Formats: sequence, C-alpha cells, structure tokens
Amino acid sequence: MPVNLAYRAYQLLWEAMDWLFPPTCGGCGVSGARWCMQCTQKTIQILSPICPICGNPNLNNETCKRCLSTPPLYTSLRSYSVFNGSIREAIHRLKYQHDIGLGEALARLMITRLEMLNWSVDLVTPVPLGLVRFKERGYNQATLLARPISLFFTIPFSSQALSRTRETRTQVGLTVRERMENMSGAFQARKEWVYEKKILVVDDVAASGATLNACAKALLEAGASKVYGFSLARAVYSPKGEIDLS
Ligand SMILES: [Zn+2]
Ligand SMILES: [Zn+2]
Repeated sequence: MPVNLAYRAYQLLWEAMDWLFPPTCGGCGVSGARWCMQCTQKTIQILSPICPICGNPNLNNETCKRCLSTPPLYTSLRSYSVFNGSIREAIHRLKYQHDIGLGEALARLMITRLEMLNWSVDLVTPVPLGLVRFKERGYNQATLLARPISLFFTIPFSSQALSRTRETRTQVGLTVRERMENMSGAFQARKEWVYEKKILVVDDVAASGATLNACAKALLEAGASKVYGFSLARAVYSPKGEIDLS
C-alpha cells in the first residue's frame, strides 16, 4: 500500500523532533529511537487462538463463555499485544510522562495489525478521557494513537464523536461485573459524526472490553451501524476470570 502524504508528513514532523531532541526508547531506554526494534521483537503479540468477538486469548478460536452469555454490543475487539514488559513501560511513559512522540511510534505497530484485519471503517475515534483527567494530562493518549492510524488509512478522524458523561474510577482491581457497572452510561456519542457509520474506537489498553462496550452502546444509540475496537495492549484474563496486570 503506498504511504499517503498526510501520514508521511506526520511522521516527518516527529522525525524532525527526533533530530532536535534525540529520543530514547519508551520501552527499554536505549538511545536512538522512540521505540526500538528489540522491544518490538520482545513484545508478545496477541494472534490466534482468540475469541472472534472480544479477542481475548483462548484455546480453540471459538466464542468465549463471557461473549456467549453476555454478547457484546461491538462487532470485534482486537489488541496488538499483551500488556506487559516494554509495551507496558512505553504506555506508562506515553500516559504519565508526557512522552507524546511515542504515540506515532506505537501507532506503527497497531497499523501493521489493522492492515491484516482489513476492517471496513468510516470513522476513527479515540476513547475519550474525562474532563478532569484531560485537564490534568493536557492530552489524550488514545488520540495520539488514533490520529496516525486515521492518516495512514485515510479514514476521517474525530475526537468529538464520543465524550464522557461523568468521571469513572480506575478499572484496575475491579471484577468484570464491577467494570461493566463502572462504565455503564459513561459515554455519549454525537449523531452528526456517527450516524450510519462504521466506527473504529482506539484505546491504549483494553482488558474486559467493558469500556468499548459502553462506547458501543452510546455509538449505536446515536445511529452508528457497527463498532470495532482496537487497543495497543491487552491486560489478559487469568483462568480465574480476574484481570492479570502482571
Ligand atoms: Zn527498546
Ligand atoms: Zn469473547
């Protein structure tokens, strides 16, 4: 696929920043790149066997028990890799240490997978932050991943399609049921952006799919025709059904 000019210009902008401010790898700290080849090689990608709906790893590539008992509102959720090691470190730097150039570098990983998935999508949108968190951080890390994805695939981008209706507490340490309750009704979608469109919702980390499901509810109610989710990393379930953030 030929690389389009807008995407290449976006990359060049970050490469100019690298020239001005020589980067270190967000995963391991080595000099010379925002994200290094060694970290890519060490990252554990999530490929098959997975549940075809929620994308959580399983043993047989069949729809998992959770998706059978409570079918998600979204069509598919996929993640590039497991949330551990270098990728976990890089996401931490992207979110909490203002290492915003990592967005473009890590989006390249996501683009390689999205090319394989070949989803038909009309709009790319990030999972929004609440206002309080957005003001604290000054940027939304999911936007920094979603924007280059939209440029690469020449699909329209909007950070206005979804917004939070309220602040939600952190999902870490909650059970699946608690996550669903925590996220229930947490988003609203704007019809003028999403009506009759297939939406790709981008996030940095997914776990139970509760966040994407709540986004999908808002998007479908506003008239979206389909909702896909893609996250850079995935906190994978342990056999006990609890979240394993190791
Ligand atoms: Zn590295
Ligand atoms: Zn599933």
